[in-house]
Amino acid sequence: MLVARANGGIERIRAPRFVLAAGAVETPRLLLASGNLANESGEVGRNFMETVSTLVGALHPEPQHGRRGLPADAICWDFNAPDAIPGVAGGCRLYHASAESGLVGLANFAVRAVPGWGRAHARKMREQYGHALYVGAIGESLPHAQSRIDLDPVKRDHHGVPLARISAWLGETDIARLRFMAGKSRELLAAGGATDVFEAYSSWDRFSASHVFGTCRMGSGPAASVVNADGRSHRWRNLWITDASVFPSSGGGEAPSLTIQALALRCAERMT
Ligand SMILES: Cc1cc2nc3c(=O)[nH]c(=O)nc-3n(C[C@H](O)[C@H](O)[C@H](O)COP(=O)(O)OP(=O)(O)OC[C@H]3O[C@@H](n4cnc5c(N)ncnc54)[C@H](O)[C@@H]3O)c2cc1C
Repeated sequence: MLVARANGGIERIRAPRFVLAAGAVETPRLLLASGNLANESGEVGRNFMETVSTLVGALHPEPQHGRRGLPADAICWDFNAPDAIPGVAGGCRLYHASAESGLVGLANFAVRAVPGWGRAHARKMREQYGHALYVGAIGESLPHAQSRIDLDPVKRDHHGVPLARISAWLGETDIARLRFMAGKSRELLAAGGATDVFEAYSSWDRFSASHVFGTCRMGSGPAASVVNADGRSHRWRNLWITDASVFPSSGGGEAPSLTIQALALRCAERMT
Protein backbone atom coordinates (compact mmCIF):
# COMPACT_ATOMS: atom_id res chain seq x y z
CA MET A 1 0.00 0.00 0.00
CA LEU A 2 1.21 3.53 -0.75
CA VAL A 3 1.20 5.91 2.23
CA ALA A 4 1.52 9.70 1.93
CA ARG A 5 3.70 11.14 4.69
CA ALA A 6 3.24 14.60 6.25
CA ASN A 7 6.59 15.76 4.77
CA GLY A 8 5.18 15.20 1.30
CA GLY A 9 6.90 11.87 0.69
CA ILE A 10 5.17 8.74 -0.58
CA GLU A 11 6.14 5.39 0.91
CA ARG A 12 5.18 1.82 -0.01
CA ILE A 13 4.39 -0.29 3.05
CA ARG A 14 3.61 -3.99 3.45
CA ALA A 15 1.55 -5.38 6.33
CA PRO A 16 -0.49 -8.50 6.98
CA ARG A 17 -3.59 -6.42 7.88
CA PHE A 18 -4.83 -2.94 7.00
CA VAL A 19 -7.49 -1.06 8.98
CA LEU A 20 -9.00 1.97 7.28
CA ALA A 21 -10.72 4.49 9.60
CA ALA A 22 -10.64 7.87 7.87
CA GLY A 23 -14.38 8.67 8.25
CA ALA A 24 -17.38 8.51 5.92
CA VAL A 25 -15.94 11.06 3.46
CA GLU A 26 -12.22 10.27 3.38
CA THR A 27 -12.45 6.45 3.56
CA PRO A 28 -14.40 6.15 0.28
CA ARG A 29 -12.19 8.83 -1.25
CA LEU A 30 -9.06 6.80 -0.45
CA LEU A 31 -10.62 3.60 -1.81
CA LEU A 32 -11.85 5.26 -5.00
CA ALA A 33 -8.51 7.01 -5.53
CA SER A 34 -6.67 3.71 -4.96
CA GLY A 35 -7.88 2.19 -8.21
CA ASN A 36 -11.44 1.61 -6.97
CA LEU A 37 -10.20 -0.68 -4.19
CA ALA A 38 -12.81 -2.91 -2.49
CA ASN A 39 -15.49 -1.57 -4.82
CA GLU A 40 -16.56 -4.81 -6.49
CA SER A 41 -20.18 -4.03 -5.46
CA GLY A 42 -20.07 -0.46 -6.82
CA GLU A 43 -21.26 0.67 -3.35
CA VAL A 44 -18.13 2.57 -2.27
CA GLY A 45 -19.16 6.22 -1.86
CA ARG A 46 -22.88 5.51 -2.21
CA ASN A 47 -25.68 6.06 0.32
CA PHE A 48 -24.00 9.01 1.99
CA MET A 49 -26.13 10.04 4.97
CA GLU A 50 -26.21 12.90 7.45
CA THR A 51 -28.70 13.08 10.32
CA VAL A 52 -31.30 15.71 9.41
CA SER A 53 -31.96 18.48 11.92
CA THR A 54 -34.37 21.29 12.76
CA LEU A 55 -34.05 24.11 15.28
CA VAL A 56 -36.84 26.49 16.34
CA GLY A 57 -36.14 29.46 18.65
CA ALA A 58 -38.75 31.47 20.55
CA LEU A 59 -38.78 34.13 23.25
CA HIS A 60 -40.14 32.89 26.58
CA PRO A 61 -41.83 35.22 29.09
CA GLU A 62 -39.48 33.88 31.81
CA PRO A 63 -35.67 34.30 31.68
CA GLN A 64 -33.87 31.16 30.41
CA HIS A 65 -30.29 32.33 31.18
CA GLY A 66 -28.85 31.31 27.80
CA ARG A 67 -25.73 33.41 28.40
CA ARG A 68 -24.63 30.83 30.99
CA GLY A 69 -24.02 28.24 28.27
CA LEU A 70 -25.92 25.72 26.25
CA PRO A 71 -27.64 23.38 28.68
CA ALA A 72 -29.60 20.68 26.88
CA ASP A 73 -30.37 18.33 29.72
CA ALA A 74 -33.36 16.42 28.42
CA ILE A 75 -33.95 14.35 25.32
CA CYS A 76 -37.31 13.01 24.20
CA TRP A 77 -37.03 9.54 22.58
CA ASP A 78 -40.77 9.07 21.96
CA PHE A 79 -40.35 9.33 18.17
CA ASN A 80 -37.03 7.50 17.85
CA ALA A 81 -38.37 4.15 16.58
CA PRO A 82 -38.45 3.58 12.78
CA ASP A 83 -42.29 3.67 12.74
CA ALA A 84 -42.90 6.17 15.56
CA ILE A 85 -43.73 9.17 13.35
CA PRO A 86 -47.22 8.72 11.87
CA GLY A 87 -46.97 8.10 8.12
CA VAL A 88 -43.20 8.73 7.90
CA ALA A 89 -40.47 6.06 7.90
CA GLY A 90 -37.54 6.69 10.25
CA GLY A 91 -37.23 8.23 13.69
CA CYS A 92 -35.97 11.36 15.43
CA ARG A 93 -35.17 12.68 18.89
CA LEU A 94 -36.15 16.07 20.34
CA TYR A 95 -34.25 18.21 22.85
CA HIS A 96 -34.45 21.69 24.33
CA ALA A 97 -31.79 24.33 24.92
CA SER A 98 -31.77 27.81 26.43
CA ALA A 99 -29.75 29.07 23.45
CA GLU A 100 -28.02 27.73 20.38
CA SER A 101 -24.28 28.11 19.97
CA GLY A 102 -24.39 31.32 17.91
CA LEU A 103 -26.77 33.08 20.26
CA VAL A 104 -24.93 33.20 23.57
CA GLY A 105 -23.44 36.70 23.16
CA LEU A 106 -25.25 40.06 23.22
CA ALA A 107 -24.41 41.06 19.65
CA ASN A 108 -25.95 37.99 18.03
CA PHE A 109 -29.00 38.26 20.24
CA ALA A 110 -29.45 41.89 19.22
CA VAL A 111 -29.31 41.02 15.53
CA ARG A 112 -31.25 37.76 15.47
CA ALA A 113 -33.75 37.83 18.31
CA VAL A 114 -34.72 41.49 18.78
CA PRO A 115 -33.48 43.44 15.74
CA GLY A 116 -34.04 47.17 15.86
CA TRP A 117 -32.44 50.53 16.63
CA GLY A 118 -32.20 53.25 19.28
CA ARG A 119 -33.99 53.47 22.63
CA ALA A 120 -36.78 51.08 21.72
CA HIS A 121 -34.18 48.47 20.80
CA ALA A 122 -32.22 49.02 24.01
CA ARG A 123 -35.41 48.57 26.01
CA LYS A 124 -36.28 45.37 24.14
CA MET A 125 -32.76 44.06 24.77
CA ARG A 126 -33.10 44.70 28.51
CA GLU A 127 -36.46 42.93 28.55
CA GLN A 128 -35.66 39.97 26.29
CA TYR A 129 -31.96 39.13 26.55
CA GLY A 130 -31.63 35.64 28.02
CA HIS A 131 -35.26 34.77 27.24
CA ALA A 132 -34.58 32.62 24.17
CA LEU A 133 -35.69 29.01 24.30
CA TYR A 134 -35.00 26.47 21.55
CA VAL A 135 -36.42 23.10 20.74
CA GLY A 136 -34.36 21.11 18.27
CA ALA A 137 -34.70 17.73 16.64
CA ILE A 138 -32.20 15.34 15.08
CA GLY A 139 -33.56 12.70 12.74
CA GLU A 140 -32.69 9.77 10.60
CA SER A 141 -31.89 10.24 6.94
CA LEU A 142 -32.55 7.31 4.67
CA PRO A 143 -29.83 5.95 2.37
CA HIS A 144 -30.33 7.14 -1.18
CA ALA A 145 -28.45 6.50 -4.41
CA GLN A 146 -28.31 10.23 -5.24
CA SER A 147 -26.43 11.06 -2.03
CA ARG A 148 -22.82 10.00 -2.48
CA ILE A 149 -19.11 10.71 -2.31
CA ASP A 150 -17.11 10.54 -5.51
CA LEU A 151 -13.82 11.98 -6.72
CA ASP A 152 -13.73 15.64 -7.67
CA PRO A 153 -12.87 15.82 -11.38
CA VAL A 154 -10.79 19.00 -10.91
CA LYS A 155 -9.64 19.60 -7.33
CA ARG A 156 -6.65 17.67 -5.95
CA ASP A 157 -4.63 17.60 -2.72
CA HIS A 158 -0.93 18.47 -2.61
CA HIS A 159 -0.05 14.84 -3.49
CA GLY A 160 -2.12 15.17 -6.66
CA VAL A 161 -4.87 12.85 -5.34
CA PRO A 162 -8.44 13.96 -6.24
CA LEU A 163 -10.44 15.45 -3.37
CA ALA A 164 -13.78 14.02 -2.29
CA ARG A 165 -16.88 15.52 -3.87
CA ILE A 166 -20.04 15.40 -1.74
CA SER A 167 -23.49 15.16 -3.32
CA ALA A 168 -26.17 15.38 -0.62
CA TRP A 169 -29.84 15.08 -1.43
CA LEU A 170 -33.01 15.06 0.69
CA GLY A 171 -35.64 12.52 -0.30
CA GLU A 172 -39.42 12.98 0.12
CA THR A 173 -39.36 10.92 3.33
CA ASP A 174 -36.60 13.06 4.80
CA ILE A 175 -38.54 16.22 3.98
CA ALA A 176 -41.69 14.77 5.57
CA ARG A 177 -39.64 13.90 8.67
CA LEU A 178 -38.23 17.45 8.77
CA ARG A 179 -41.78 18.85 8.63
CA PHE A 180 -42.81 16.65 11.54
CA MET A 181 -39.70 17.61 13.56
CA ALA A 182 -40.25 21.36 13.04
CA GLY A 183 -43.98 21.10 13.77
CA LYS A 184 -43.45 19.07 16.95
CA SER A 185 -40.77 21.55 18.10
CA ARG A 186 -43.22 24.47 17.72
CA GLU A 187 -45.85 22.46 19.60
CA LEU A 188 -43.46 21.81 22.50
CA LEU A 189 -42.38 25.47 22.64
CA ALA A 190 -46.00 26.61 22.72
CA ALA A 191 -46.84 24.05 25.42
CA GLY A 192 -43.94 25.47 27.46
CA GLY A 193 -45.28 29.01 27.11
CA ALA A 194 -42.96 30.29 24.33
CA THR A 195 -45.13 31.35 21.41
CA ASP A 196 -43.03 34.20 19.98
CA VAL A 197 -40.97 32.24 17.43
CA PHE A 198 -38.19 34.45 16.02
CA GLU A 199 -36.24 31.93 13.94
CA ALA A 200 -36.42 28.41 12.55
CA TYR A 201 -34.03 26.57 10.28
CA SER A 202 -33.20 23.03 9.29
CA SER A 203 -31.29 20.70 6.96
CA TRP A 204 -33.55 22.12 4.27
CA ASP A 205 -31.70 25.46 4.63
CA ARG A 206 -28.16 24.28 5.21
CA PHE A 207 -26.18 21.05 5.13
CA SER A 208 -24.81 20.09 8.53
CA ALA A 209 -21.80 17.78 8.49
CA SER A 210 -21.48 16.59 12.08
CA HIS A 211 -22.92 13.05 11.77
CA VAL A 212 -21.96 11.49 8.46
CA PHE A 213 -22.47 7.82 7.62
CA GLY A 214 -22.81 5.29 4.83
CA THR A 215 -20.45 5.19 1.81
CA CYS A 216 -18.90 1.74 2.61
CA ARG A 217 -21.97 -0.01 3.90
CA MET A 218 -21.89 -3.21 5.94
CA GLY A 219 -23.94 -6.11 4.64
CA SER A 220 -24.29 -9.83 4.31
CA GLY A 221 -23.13 -10.24 0.71
CA PRO A 222 -20.62 -8.77 -1.75
CA ALA A 223 -23.24 -7.81 -4.32
CA ALA A 224 -24.73 -4.91 -2.33
CA SER A 225 -22.22 -4.04 0.40
CA VAL A 226 -18.53 -3.28 0.92
CA VAL A 227 -17.74 -5.00 4.25
CA ASN A 228 -19.23 -7.86 6.27
CA ALA A 229 -20.54 -7.69 9.86
CA ASP A 230 -16.93 -7.72 11.17
CA GLY A 231 -15.98 -4.69 9.03
CA ARG A 232 -13.93 -6.91 6.71
CA SER A 233 -13.87 -6.32 2.98
CA HIS A 234 -15.83 -9.05 1.19
CA ARG A 235 -13.13 -9.26 -1.48
CA TRP A 236 -9.85 -8.21 0.20
CA ARG A 237 -9.46 -10.40 3.27
CA ASN A 238 -6.66 -8.33 4.84
CA LEU A 239 -8.64 -5.05 4.73
CA TRP A 240 -11.00 -3.85 7.50
CA ILE A 241 -12.97 -0.60 7.84
CA THR A 242 -13.83 0.69 11.33
CA ASP A 243 -15.49 4.11 10.97
CA ALA A 244 -18.95 5.53 10.34
CA SER A 245 -18.72 4.70 6.63
CA VAL A 246 -19.86 1.13 7.39
CA PHE A 247 -23.28 2.21 8.75
CA PRO A 248 -26.04 0.84 6.47
CA SER A 249 -28.55 3.26 8.05
CA SER A 250 -28.36 6.33 10.27
CA GLY A 251 -30.42 5.17 13.27
CA GLY A 252 -33.25 7.21 14.75
CA GLY A 253 -31.40 10.46 15.45
CA GLU A 254 -28.92 8.99 17.94
CA ALA A 255 -25.37 10.33 18.11
CA PRO A 256 -23.14 7.74 16.42
CA SER A 257 -19.83 7.69 18.35
CA LEU A 258 -20.62 4.84 20.73
CA THR A 259 -21.82 2.64 17.88
CA ILE A 260 -18.68 3.40 15.87
CA GLN A 261 -16.58 2.43 18.89
CA ALA A 262 -18.59 -0.76 19.52
CA LEU A 263 -18.19 -1.81 15.88
CA ALA A 264 -14.43 -1.11 16.03
CA LEU A 265 -14.10 -3.23 19.19
CA ARG A 266 -16.06 -6.05 17.60
CA CYS A 267 -13.84 -5.84 14.53
CA ALA A 268 -10.70 -6.04 16.73
CA GLU A 269 -12.05 -9.05 18.61
CA ARG A 270 -12.93 -10.96 15.45
CA MET A 271 -9.89 -9.99 13.40
CA THR A 272 -7.95 -13.04 12.23
C1 LIG B 1 -19.25 19.50 15.98
C2 LIG B 1 -19.53 18.01 16.12
C3 LIG B 1 -20.21 17.56 17.24
C4 LIG B 1 -20.44 16.19 17.40
N1 LIG B 1 -21.10 15.76 18.52
C5 LIG B 1 -21.27 14.43 18.71
C6 LIG B 1 -21.85 13.95 19.91
O1 LIG B 1 -22.20 14.71 20.81
N2 LIG B 1 -22.01 12.61 20.04
C7 LIG B 1 -21.62 11.73 19.07
O2 LIG B 1 -21.79 10.51 19.24
N3 LIG B 1 -21.08 12.18 17.92
C8 LIG B 1 -20.88 13.49 17.73
N4 LIG B 1 -20.31 13.94 16.58
C9 LIG B 1 -20.03 12.96 15.52
C10 LIG B 1 -18.78 12.17 15.75
O3 LIG B 1 -17.71 13.05 16.09
C11 LIG B 1 -18.46 11.41 14.46
O4 LIG B 1 -19.60 10.67 14.06
C12 LIG B 1 -17.32 10.46 14.66
O5 LIG B 1 -16.15 11.12 15.13
C13 LIG B 1 -16.98 9.79 13.35
O6 LIG B 1 -15.99 8.84 13.59
P1 LIG B 1 -15.18 8.24 12.39
O7 LIG B 1 -14.21 7.28 12.99
O8 LIG B 1 -16.11 7.77 11.34
O9 LIG B 1 -14.40 9.46 11.72
P2 LIG B 1 -13.48 10.58 12.39
O10 LIG B 1 -13.72 10.72 13.86
O11 LIG B 1 -13.63 11.78 11.50
O12 LIG B 1 -12.02 9.97 12.24
C14 LIG B 1 -11.37 9.91 11.01
C15 LIG B 1 -9.89 10.17 11.24
O13 LIG B 1 -9.16 9.88 10.05
C16 LIG B 1 -8.22 10.91 9.81
N5 LIG B 1 -7.97 10.92 8.37
C17 LIG B 1 -8.81 11.31 7.39
N6 LIG B 1 -8.21 11.17 6.18
C18 LIG B 1 -6.98 10.65 6.41
C19 LIG B 1 -5.90 10.26 5.57
N7 LIG B 1 -5.97 10.38 4.25
N8 LIG B 1 -4.79 9.79 6.17
C20 LIG B 1 -4.71 9.65 7.52
N9 LIG B 1 -5.69 10.00 8.35
C21 LIG B 1 -6.82 10.49 7.81
C22 LIG B 1 -8.88 12.16 10.35
O14 LIG B 1 -7.92 13.13 10.63
C23 LIG B 1 -9.58 11.62 11.60
O15 LIG B 1 -8.71 11.63 12.71
C24 LIG B 1 -20.03 15.28 16.41
C25 LIG B 1 -19.33 15.76 15.29
C26 LIG B 1 -19.07 17.11 15.16
C27 LIG B 1 -18.31 17.58 13.94
